[in-house]
Amino acid sequence: MATIEWRSPASEMAVRQFDIAAERLNLDKNVAGRLRRPDRALIVSVPTRMDDGSVHVFTGYRVQHNDVLGPFKGGIRYHPDVNLGEVGALAMWMTWKCSLVGLPLGGGKGGIACDPKKLSRNELQGMTRRYTAEILNFIGPEVDIPAPDMGTNEQVMAWVMDTYSQHKGYAVPGVVTGKPVDIGGSLGRREATGRGVVYMIMEAAKHLELDLAKCSAVVQGFGNVGLVTARELAALGVKVVGASDTSGAVWNAKGLPMAEFVLYKDKNKRVQGFPGAESVPGAELLELKCDILIPAAGEMQITGENAAGLKCKILAEGANGPTTPEADQILKEKGIFIIPDILANAGGVIVSYFEWVQDLQNFFWTEDEIRNRLREILNRAFHEVIGVSRREKVDMRVAALMIGVKRVARAMLWRGLYA
Ligand code: NDP
Repeated sequence: MATIEWRSPASEMAVRQFDIAAERLNLDKNVAGRLRRPDRALIVSVPTRMDDGSVHVFTGYRVQHNDVLGPFKGGIRYHPDVNLGEVGALAMWMTWKCSLVGLPLGGGKGGIACDPKKLSRNELQGMTRRYTAEILNFIGPEVDIPAPDMGTNEQVMAWVMDTYSQHKGYAVPGVVTGKPVDIGGSLGRREATGRGVVYMIMEAAKHLELDLAKCSAVVQGFGNVGLVTARELAALGVKVVGASDTSGAVWNAKGLPMAEFVLYKDKNKRVQGFPGAESVPGAELLELKCDILIPAAGEMQITGENAAGLKCKILAEGANGPTTPEADQILKEKGIFIIPDILANAGGVIVSYFEWVQDLQNFFWTEDEIRNRLREILNRAFHEVIGVSRREKVDMRVAALMIGVKRVARAMLWRGLYA
């Protein structure tokens, strides 16, 4: 992202991916120059009263990459490594994702550099409310609509919604998505990202003529995305043989007994120590033999260093940015079929879009309607990506980016430059 403020491994990677797509599209140089960096970024100090009476000042961010297609949309991440460059990269990926699946939304992202596991409920609430107050003038149902990401959940979204609403003087459910259903959330939002990953794996299996009931899978990360993906894959008869979280990784060649495994994680907050599996070093998890590998944790997990060791047939990117461009090259040579992040995990923002629409209309849909519409949008996007990939002779990631970038660029040219 050109200038020094944005410099970080994640933002450099996002820009490299964009440049590859822009070159294939022969994109107008002026448009490309604009899209390589975000529209706007906000850095805020978030003073928070800690339980011991002291005040700790956290650093928070909200980056708005592009809103040419509609209001900015993107999650809020709580993680110690959150920084401006990472949030900028995640915001850029949101722009391409919304565009790829045809949503009238732009790309944004936010976060606070903190370890949410070390904060009490009180501290987490205080920090969330103050962060919301600091970014209040930059968000809103018509402006920028946050959602959950790593380290945040529906409770955090409820506090964001309440803080915003208290300032306005009336309830504004449409300011965030991923809220509890009781306060205007959507049925199926919690499961949406993992469910979408599974729909895309089903399409990929059909495309590659693989019988899912004979396939095995490994999942890195066992939070919102990883857990739902693993559970839904197991329900389809896929043997989920390995899983990990920050405590480490576990393996069972016969398949992890999913119901017990999910209960164990829920109760103990860790996968390590699960009695129905052997423990394996976390770094080895990605190289375990399986048909489907699902990274569902952080960025840049599959790199030039370990890509050659991957043994899967399908790589379904639940996480954002899990694979570096160096790794992409190696995986291409190995013939691994990649379902790129902006397609594989787009189920989250699609159902967030449904939630926003329902909030604006005060009219709520059934879970069946949500699932069917989600699947229809994702399947359409999958086949569009396959089509471009074949026609242009590019891999799935470049094809997905080409579609996403092209729609945004076309909209920019229609709207023109305001000067
Ligand atoms: P969560 O915070 O719910 O879960 C993250 C999981 O990853 C946790 O299980 C965590 O472990 C684990 N984890 C973190 N670091 C590592 C590591 N180094 N090795 C193994 N496991 C690790 O986040 P989400 O599931 O919401 O997000 C996961 C990814 O999916 C992110 O890249 C996010 O941007 C992306 N995503 C999320 C969407 C959503 O709707 N939530 C939508 C689209 C993309 P532990 O449980 O021990 O903390």
